[in-house]
Amino acid sequence: MAHPDELVLHSPANGTEVGRVAVSTPDEVRAAVARARAAQPAWSARSIAERCAVLLEVRESILSHGREIVALVAKESGKPQHEGLLHEVMAPLELITYFCENAERVLAPAPIPMHLTKHRASYLHYVPRGVVGIIGPWNFPHNLPFGGAVMALLAGNAVVMKPSEYTPLIAAYVHGLYVEAGVPADLFQLVQGRGDVGATLIDAGVDMVEFTGSVATGKKVGAMCAERVIPCVLELGGKAPALVLADADLDRALAAVTWGGFANAGQVCASIERVLVHERLYDRFVEGLVTRVKALRTGDASASDDIDLGPLQNARQRDIVEARVNDAVAKGARVLCGGHRIEGPGHFYAPTVLADVTTDMDIVNLETFGPVLPVMRFSDEEAMITEANRSHLGLLGYVFCKDAERGRRVAERIACGTVMVNDVIASHAMAETPWGGLKQSGIGVTHSDEGLRHMCQQRHVNHDLVPWMSSEPWWYPYRPQDLPRFEKALGALYGQGLAGKLRRLFGSND
Ligand code: NAD
Repeated sequence: MAHPDELVLHSPANGTEVGRVAVSTPDEVRAAVARARAAQPAWSARSIAERCAVLLEVRESILSHGREIVALVAKESGKPQHEGLLHEVMAPLELITYFCENAERVLAPAPIPMHLTKHRASYLHYVPRGVVGIIGPWNFPHNLPFGGAVMALLAGNAVVMKPSEYTPLIAAYVHGLYVEAGVPADLFQLVQGRGDVGATLIDAGVDMVEFTGSVATGKKVGAMCAERVIPCVLELGGKAPALVLADADLDRALAAVTWGGFANAGQVCASIERVLVHERLYDRFVEGLVTRVKALRTGDASASDDIDLGPLQNARQRDIVEARVNDAVAKGARVLCGGHRIEGPGHFYAPTVLADVTTDMDIVNLETFGPVLPVMRFSDEEAMITEANRSHLGLLGYVFCKDAERGRRVAERIACGTVMVNDVIASHAMAETPWGGLKQSGIGVTHSDEGLRHMCQQRHVNHDLVPWMSSEPWWYPYRPQDLPRFEKALGALYGQGLAGKLRRLFGSND
């Protein structure tokens, strides 16, 4: 008998049904959170080394099942197998490895050097938050939500994850590997379904939410967390600019921009979505870009490993891409290649380059999340920086130039959470570096020492070093004769320079 509500998944490349998944009911979601909460104390009682040992078993299992993960990712999300292997297998392996090697250091109690009260000492210590709710998107169905889960688990939390309704199969498969490898089944659970299931998860009493998805949903998630006064990390959309400065290495810039715009068919929050090129290189750059983009091969990754680009993951996403390009063309953009759907059973869209784009076009202002690169021409670096920063989004930005110092100088002026010089996207796979957006691209960071610590309550202990002190000078009783002494002490502490301190200490109080 059919389940009352289920997700029916179709291949984005060929339309065939690839599986079905039952949608979790609200009662099931609440029960999952309750079981996770009950399982968490025993897990957090294990040492970090013991938790790492379990996660390293998970790593072994992912490594052994790499081919199956690649095949399922290809089937369910349409990703080329190269990307399946590097983005959805290697990057998670690296993340587990990095955090297993560093969790003890990062989560060790941290002393705070005392400024004034040197007779006391302070330190921070890190206590798991409890149950972390993870809500994921479809564009990196293993890498993103499970990266968050690894960090939450290592920090001693339980996890209840709601993967995207577009990619529940890969989540179910990888989750099975975690449990088989020794992660307690109640400690890490999956609930499946659409947005309402995500909202129920937040309402079910989780202690923190890590959300990755669109700005619109992120605002709703943030509002729900604010109502419940629980922390959330919001990893939202991007509109990454690539600034190709006058002295850029043309070949590297072309190779990087092509890959950065079309990897995963442009469905990366860090995808290049705007190319700003200095006029000195513009003609050669555009010619080279169009040649490279025309050579990209689209196809069904589940049938061939010899393709560069899959389809859009779902019909809604292709409609968005089409609307962005149509808006640009209606406002005067020139299509240099692509610019249309590829007819057939899948959600393919031809890799597209647009020129003559202007700042009134949606393609320049709104996230596209598809295989389209709008290219703009600039005569001056300042104007490029201004245009890069005009966006309401600020996740990733890229600068291409040969002069390393200039590259860093320009990078520092781009208002994005991460700016890479002469590279694209890859910092996400550098687990030791922070990942998070400015402006409407989000709040908080994942990855990095800071991201791991954020999976914990940061608690502060302040304790005495001088046990024989029976009182502090600021405690009762308040005696009028103490006030002048305090004033002198303030002068000694905060007077300007040695002379100022001495004058206030030994001078008259009048
Ligand atoms: P989405 O916002 O449509 O959905 C994301 C998740 O939220 C899904 O699991 C969905 O079911 C759930 N959801 C929907 N409504 C909800 C609600 N009211 N309460 C709780 N959960 C709800 O996003 P998407 O289309 O799956 O992902 C694409 C977007 O994600 C793009 O904007 C992309 O830039 C962004 N993204 C950001 C990052 C990053 O690191 N900053 C990474 C990947 C993707």
